[in-house]
Amino acid sequence: MNKIEKIVDDSGNFVKLSRLAKTYKQKLASSTAFKNRLKDLENLAQTNRLCRYVLDNWEAMVTEKPRSLHQRIRIIDTLVSQSQLEAKKKELEDGLKWSTTPIYIKFLQQCFNIKTCPYCNAQSTLTLKGKKDPRVLIELDHFYPKSIYPYFMFCFYNLIPVCHNCNHIKSDDDFTIYNAFHPYYIDIDNHCQFEIPSKTVADYFAGNIETKELIPQLKVKPQFRTNQGVENRLNKHVEGTRLDEVYSEHWDIAWEILQKARHYSSIRRKGLKAVLPNLVDSEIDRLLYGNYLEKKDIPNRPFVKLTKDLIDQWEK
Ligand SMILES: [Zn+2]
Repeated sequence: MNKIEKIVDDSGNFVKLSRLAKTYKQKLASSTAFKNRLKDLENLAQTNRLCRYVLDNWEAMVTEKPRSLHQRIRIIDTLVSQSQLEAKKKELEDGLKWSTTPIYIKFLQQCFNIKTCPYCNAQSTLTLKGKKDPRVLIELDHFYPKSIYPYFMFCFYNLIPVCHNCNHIKSDDDFTIYNAFHPYYIDIDNHCQFEIPSKTVADYFAGNIETKELIPQLKVKPQFRTNQGVENRLNKHVEGTRLDEVYSEHWDIAWEILQKARHYSSIRRKGLKAVLPNLVDSEIDRLLYGNYLEKKDIPNRPFVKLTKDLIDQWEK
């Protein structure tokens, strides 16, 4: 739900994505597993021009930004005839065989160090770094799916740290930077907001509908509603991650926010300020709503985007 530009390293310092991409490239180039895959491609390249292209260009492609990567698709797809394209892609995908979870994938999972999924902001993506038993809850989604774009499967800017649910639900859905929200490229929070229609809220308070019908939906912000491109990206995102179904399960959170925003936020805020005079306003808000309310904190905890957007809607 937020653009990923920097990550926090183990020492608490911000690291730019471009720097992490360079480190990833070094790790990849020195990995025995990757070198073995390149050897496999050398054999395939004798009869498969897609494999030849990857061998000749992989060093540039590893750290290439999404827009430049996209420009390669048309070139690559003209390398073999349309009738052979799918078979050659499959051969390339099998030749690379990333599904063996080689060392560089683990390296990236541990580096990302983000707490929530950028696709849904509903699930944790923690990395538990215990020395005896490290566990990684982050998965790496291939934004351009490997079944359609196998030549991008090792590219840093095509690997998105997401939750298990989003990775498996999205699967082979044909996301590109021109039809979906790429988290390194576009900020969903700038363009879309969670809403529950005013009529639904009125019906709830009138006793006409049940609490579980307070279902939040992600919508394009008013200033972009004439922009068909944003609408299309949102539809792709929601369908690809089944976000509407995920959030329909969380009507209880929406109900809590609604009650607090409607009935006691101002009274409670004054009371908390009186007993906790050393806290700043943002800390008072956190105590009040049980979550962060600022854009910068969307990556830090699940449902920050939902909480922030609904309060914006209901407290004004
Ligand atoms: Zn997710």
